[in-house]
Amino acid sequence: MKKTTLLYEGKAKKVFKTDDEEKLIVSYKDDATAFNGVKKGSIEEKGSVNNRVSNYLMGLLEKEGIPTHLIEELNERETVVRKVQIVPLEVIVRNIAAGSLSKRLGLEEGTKMASTVLEYCYKNDDLGDPMINDYHIYAMSLATEEELKTIADMSLKINTTLTTYFASINIELVDFKLEFGRTSDGHIILADEISPDTCRFWDKNTGEKLDKDRFRRDLGKVEDAYQEILKRTLGK
Ligand code: ADP
Ligand code: UDP
Repeated sequence: MKKTTLLYEGKAKKVFKTDDEEKLIVSYKDDATAFNGVKKGSIEEKGSVNNRVSNYLMGLLEKEGIPTHLIEELNERETVVRKVQIVPLEVIVRNIAAGSLSKRLGLEEGTKMASTVLEYCYKNDDLGDPMINDYHIYAMSLATEEELKTIADMSLKINTTLTTYFASINIELVDFKLEFGRTSDGHIILADEISPDTCRFWDKNTGEKLDKDRFRRDLGKVEDAYQEILKRTLGK
């Protein structure tokens, strides 16, 4: 299988076509953005950390019966994935209040939610990914009822698996973002990435932030946080 043309360059990854219609190669960049692209920078070795961490976590989820786009890690930064039609939703899963939820509802960061919160945002950079509900999703034909049920069920199962896993490496999984896609035969699978770019990770003992909030909020030791996540997940 050979990499052919660049299909898409996003803020954090490049996506290449291959000579196999069903497969893409994702290449992770060190570029970092926040606040819908307003804050720009670079985090040394982020691409390599996110690629390996995301693949490790997707492998873990596959073992739990959750279908993902992961096919094969090619090298430190590149992975072969199954090509999907992305459902234009960012699914946010929250266990502890932080970020935009804290602001919106006046909840102090760190407040444990009594039950898991699922939110949907319409994946549209021009609009700043606005939050929407299931009625909008059906009315705009972004997903069918059956698809959204699958997405919600899978998101909650992913949360259970990842929360347990991260607890075992002394990390609190505060919240995270997921993207799903449709395969050519119409099945919903997990796509995109799960990494310190897309999750909030807090050290269970110290509460130290080990994710992209260090970049968003200028907290320093950004690279160290990504390396710490790599070390705790892959033992490297
Ligand atoms: P953004 O588009 O938000 O800037 P990225 O830089 O991460 O984000 O770009 C990666 C793009 O690839 C995203 O738009 C994502 O939805 C898409 N994508 C992720 N996995 C797949 C896949 N398996 N098939 C097709 N597209 C994918
Ligand atoms: N998130 C993401 N991409 C986005 C928006 C959010 O990966 O475009 C992740 C973010 O890293 C966090 C969770 O989703 O783990 C919830 O983010 P929130 O809504 O609090 O937004 P933020 O505070 O990042 O603006």
